[in-house]
Amino acid sequence: MFSVNPIKAFSDNYIWLLTTNEGSIVVDPGEAVKILDLIDKDKINLQGVLITHHHFDHTSGLGDLINKKLVDVYGPENNIIEINKRVKDLDQISVLGIDFEVIEIPGHTLDHIAFYAFNDNNPILFCGDSLFAGGCGRVFEGTYEQMFNSLKKLSSLPSNTKVYCGHEYTLSNLKFALEVDIQNKYLMDEYKHILELSKSSTPSLPTTIDKEFKVNPFLRCNDPFIKNKIKKEFGIEGNELETFTALRKWKDNF
Ligand SMILES: [Zn+2]
Repeated sequence: MFSVNPIKAFSDNYIWLLTTNEGSIVVDPGEAVKILDLIDKDKINLQGVLITHHHFDHTSGLGDLINKKLVDVYGPENNIIEINKRVKDLDQISVLGIDFEVIEIPGHTLDHIAFYAFNDNNPILFCGDSLFAGGCGRVFEGTYEQMFNSLKKLSSLPSNTKVYCGHEYTLSNLKFALEVDIQNKYLMDEYKHILELSKSSTPSLPTTIDKEFKVNPFLRCNDPFIKNKIKKEFGIEGNELETFTALRKWKDNF
């Protein structure tokens, strides 16, 4: 038995709280205050931390957490000194009795990794700021090709994989997606659904790989309608990577 719940941080970050009968871990603690409160009130037994990339809004709570309880902090090679278990592509780690595989997914940052667990055919993915519901992260440090390949890796995971992203960006992502892929009936229905959720500030996550193939334009760059849209907007008639690159640049200025 396990559960995954969001802890909201800053304006739109999610710190994911994974709990089993062995305890809890948190993913990307940008802030510590709500987690410390749960520890103080004996609501959770913190056993570890997973870090997907070095950005402050995913790591700034680490110092306070470690001061409170020295636990294993798994993360990539970077400048975050609180990470005490460095991991790299294809490493296997076991936390709370769940076996995770590390997947390197550069693009948003060069150090970006994801944590994937098959979990008895109940697969889960913590992917930070790479794949988002209806979109993908900005390319800050890597190349567009790296980001494209990273999304290919993630989207090759089982279609029922539950995807826990680092931010609540779904509504704005789907607005952009509709601009690109207006004839997509499934996307329109999903937009209406997420719009309803947003009215009560209900988290739209997790999403699934299966759903992302239906709504996320960044996973649909081979779709003839989207290719044609990019040709009409920018005069670019290229392969899937070139379509992806044009789409990501368009979103940057949307
Ligand atoms: Zn980030």
